[in-house]
Amino acid sequence: MLAVENLTKVYKTGDKALTDVSFSVPKGQVVGLIGPSGAGKSTLIRCVNRLVEPSSGSVRLNDLDITRLRAGDLRRARRRIGMIFQEYALVERLTVMENVLSGRLGYVPFWRSFTRRFPPADIAMAFRLLDRVGLSAHADKRADALSGGQRQRVGIARALEQDPELLLIDEPTASLDPKTSRQIMRLIVEICRESGLPAIINIHDVVLAQQFSDRIIGLQAGRVVFDGPPTALSEEALTRIYGAEDWTAMRQGASDDARAEDEEREQTKALMRSL
Ligand code: ADP
Repeated sequence: MLAVENLTKVYKTGDKALTDVSFSVPKGQVVGLIGPSGAGKSTLIRCVNRLVEPSSGSVRLNDLDITRLRAGDLRRARRRIGMIFQEYALVERLTVMENVLSGRLGYVPFWRSFTRRFPPADIAMAFRLLDRVGLSAHADKRADALSGGQRQRVGIARALEQDPELLLIDEPTASLDPKTSRQIMRLIVEICRESGLPAIINIHDVVLAQQFSDRIIGLQAGRVVFDGPPTALSEEALTRIYGAEDWTAMRQGASDDARAEDEEREQTKALMRSL
């Protein structure tokens, strides 16, 4: 369980990015974090693992008060938090397997990681995870030979290889096409359900957030202005979050994509039946 209490962040520039943000996320719950650009989504995600230092408030993960940890303990605590980034942050010239194993680096002594000697249990886990994300046939490929969706799957497997207690996911679909975006979101949600992992996903796309999250938190100018199930995200709530921005257009475009995917699925089924 993650508990964020009265979190406030004021950058040195005087920008107040977060004001008094409080919420908690139980095991297995996937939270979609939405809000217009500049609302504080990235700051919030980064305050949770202290890539950004909060100005006040607390972040607790299970038995640990992350906000009180000193450098060494913080490094150890960060192993318990898997991060998945928009730009995948893979090492291009390493193989898929090596990228996934790099999720263990926080656990493996330096000399072993330097010689790339990982314990057999770590390697077995990496094979299992590659299988889970549908990439077992690609373990030996170099990361730079993969498609965008495949790269994001490697990013997911690498975060899971850390054996985390929480997933923080920053714009996982920002550079993917709509169909691949839905596949990636579906995979993330299934994995969280299976393993009881709580997750916070910073997601720009409201429709994807609604479709795949268990709960939506809406930020506006650094404050939580909505916190509830996707079904409660009314037009009034969306206007509270996005103001005058035309989110109806966003919605229409995405539902067209979903329809196209449904059609594709039906066509494939028809094709299979005709064989
Ligand atoms: P979002 O992810 O929702 O787009 P951010 O968390 O990036 O929002 O930004 C929230 C606010 O904090 C914005 O006003 C932004 O300009 C400001 N901000 C973000 N990062 C920094 C920084 N490193 N230094 C100063 N201000 C920042």
